[in-house]
Amino acid sequence: MRLPYRNSLLAALSGRWKHRLCLHEWTVHWRWMMDGSDNYDGETHRASYNRTATIRLNASMTCDYARFREVVAHELLHLRISVMVDAVENAGIRPLIGESAWTVFWAQWQRCMEKEVDQLSEILVEVAEWKREDEALLAKDEREARRKGRKR
Ligand SMILES: [Zn+2]
Repeated sequence: MRLPYRNSLLAALSGRWKHRLCLHEWTVHWRWMMDGSDNYDGETHRASYNRTATIRLNASMTCDYARFREVVAHELLHLRISVMVDAVENAGIRPLIGESAWTVFWAQWQRCMEKEVDQLSEILVEVAEWKREDEALLAKDEREARRKGRKR
C-alpha cells in the first residue's frame, strides 16, 4: 500500500507542531494503520507518566495536504490537553457515580473533546496561513515603502 504522505513530511510537520504546541517533553512515535476504519484519520495512545505517545494514522486516508496538516495538529492537540483529560479521569468521580453513569459521562466527555480538538486544529492551521499571508503583506508593504523612499 502506498502511504498518503511520506514519513519525512510527517516528521517535519510533527516537529513544527510539537514546537508550536510546546510538547518538547513528549516522545511521539508515528505509525501508519494499514487496517484503519474510514471513520477516522488517526488515533492517539498516550502514557502521560513518561510523556510517550504512539499516534496511528490511517494509511488509507484520502485527504489533501491542508487536511493532513489538520490531522497531525489534531492528534498532537490530544497530547497538549492530556493534563485536563487526566485530571477528569483521575478526579475520583468514577467510584462515586458508579460504572454505568461513568460510561455515559465518559462517552459524552470524549465526544465533546473530539469536537473541540477537531475545531481547534482547523483554527490553528488557518491561523498559521494568516501568519504567512500577514508576513507576505508586511514584506510587500516594506518593499513598497522602500521603493517610494519612505520609512515606516
Ligand atoms: Zn481526536
